[in-house]
Amino acid sequence: MSAITVRVPAKVNLQLAVGPLREDGYHDLVNVFHAVSLFDEVTAAEPADGDLSAAPLRVRVEGDHTGEVPVSDDNLAVRAAMALADRAGRSYRADLLIRKSIPVAGGMAGGSADAAAALVACNELWGLGLPVEDLMEIAADIGSDVPFALLGGTAVGTGRGERLAPLETAGIFHWVFALADGGLSTPRVYGECDRLREEAGVAAPTPAVSEALLAALREGDAKALGQALSNDLQPAALALRPSLADTLAAGRAHGALGALVSGSGPTCAFLAESAERAHELAGLIKDVDGCRAVVTAHGPVPGATVAG
Ligand code: ATP
Repeated sequence: MSAITVRVPAKVNLQLAVGPLREDGYHDLVNVFHAVSLFDEVTAAEPADGDLSAAPLRVRVEGDHTGEVPVSDDNLAVRAAMALADRAGRSYRADLLIRKSIPVAGGMAGGSADAAAALVACNELWGLGLPVEDLMEIAADIGSDVPFALLGGTAVGTGRGERLAPLETAGIFHWVFALADGGLSTPRVYGECDRLREEAGVAAPTPAVSEALLAALREGDAKALGQALSNDLQPAALALRPSLADTLAAGRAHGALGALVSGSGPTCAFLAESAERAHELAGLIKDVDGCRAVVTAHGPVPGATVAG
């Protein structure tokens, strides 16, 4: 094979419970991840030019609003490919092409998704044949959200989010995502969450998974799921980007079953009862101030997968 393309989904957090700040700088989390049908594609190809003096791993990025995505070793897909080559114990070459649809710095784990896709693509391109368990280990070293992008579906993450247990779900859930202009830095949003808690004098609770959420997922009950959605980072995201409150309010006013900021934001997620309602809702919120674009998607969908 001279080129392998992998499709990888974005995630929305159905529950993000943020515990106290740990000594290692991370927070203890309960993170219910849900993979949705908004995909990036990563192609790993053998370099065509045979120029052995060029960097062994090169990356290009295509798509709208991708100006902030690094095309250097800082790109998470490149870091993943390097970590994979390290594990295999020798140097390998690849040209990576990332076609982005997942909003950048949008709270939908696009960078982590690209890292997961690069692991799957390079494992195949280089003929390494590493099992998924090994890829999961490498993924967890790259970032807390990367293992879930390999797994997909719906899963609960604990620790800093990287210890994953798949969840049983029924049916398909229909979503609308309101993309915002510009991103929000994840570390900044966590910092604001700590600051708001300190200011209010509230201790961070020990995070626990919501039983109501688990029951709604098991039963495929969209209405109950809408009521059980929660995100402890939402107050911090709203403090940093007050216009998101209007976006959420517009979705609720137009009948969304649930509305929340996705992860660290600024993307807002709305649950609808059907694909038709999701399309209607998208049309109704697309002109709200601060909303750059709307997309509809469904979940759960599988994790990083080699495209046919
Ligand atoms: P999360 O939901 O995991 O907190 P996010 O969706 O808010 O993340 P990302 O799109 O993953 O944010 O990107 C955050 C930052 O990571 C970007 O601003 C960019 O500088 C850097 N980055 C590195 N590699 C990538 C990549 N392949 N795609 C997007 N961003 C990347």
